[in-house]
Amino acid sequence: MAERLYRIGALTLTEIPRSHPRYESLLAREHIAEGVRDGITSTQGLIAQGRGEAFDYLIGERTTPAAKAATSAAAAMLLLAKRPALSVNGNVAALIPEGMVELSKALNAPLEVNLFHRTEERVGKIAGLLRSLGAERVLGEDPDETIPGLDHARSKASRGGIYDADVVLIPLEDGDRCEALVRMGKKVIAIDLNPLSRTSRMATVTIVDNIVRAVPNLISFAMELSVTNHRNLQSLIHEYDNRVALRQCVDEIQSHLTKQFR
Ligand code: ATP
Repeated sequence: MAERLYRIGALTLTEIPRSHPRYESLLAREHIAEGVRDGITSTQGLIAQGRGEAFDYLIGERTTPAAKAATSAAAAMLLLAKRPALSVNGNVAALIPEGMVELSKALNAPLEVNLFHRTEERVGKIAGLLRSLGAERVLGEDPDETIPGLDHARSKASRGGIYDADVVLIPLEDGDRCEALVRMGKKVIAIDLNPLSRTSRMATVTIVDNIVRAVPNLISFAMELSVTNHRNLQSLIHEYDNRVALRQCVDEIQSHLTKQFR
């Protein structure tokens, strides 16, 4: 993390003191703004970040018990996958590129650059960033397949990555693509702060948490569960019900809000 702070510059460090009550949130804004300046994040990514922040505020900017349970089910699903793949878009690359590289190594899964507002230049920059951080398998620059049911620009996918994966992690994804991947028969794990989004409702497992908290938690669970037998991993997955979990997230938001004015 210290290295990353250095990378975004002394200006950010001096302007946002660690003691600031909104430190993490302001830092994330800096990362996204820098992503836009570097040509990694789209300008629409700024709006997606704003929507995420609003939900994070309502959740209480913490990993809730429901999010923790979803993260553990997701780690079990990724560990049991035959061909897992991890999607990276411009916001993910700006917020937690090192974490995605570490997760990909922990799971032995490829990273695939997968952009809603795709330009070849942006794909190349994100792939380059991931490789510069040590990623071994980065796909997305030469997609050789299409996901059925999506328009051409948004349907691009790679063999060996998202296209033929059995389990796909899609942080901050849009609902149409999530639905199209589910229709292909894949198990889809979303990370999305909005429990009401189409992505959250469509996914097999939705981690309703900020990606900057969810990815480190996923890495910890993947390490912890890697020594667990198949049967226990299966039971973690079977015990998980996405609809019930999303309802629990909404209840957690409600009780957090109610407490504010007691
Ligand atoms: P859908 O099509 O699924 O209904 P949407 O139109 O809201 O969703 P986008 O704007 O494409 O989808 O996706 C952004 C999603 O990512 C939003 O639901 C937002 O809450 C979520 N999001 C944004 N920033 C973060 C973050 N840092 N961590 C987790 N989720 C985030």
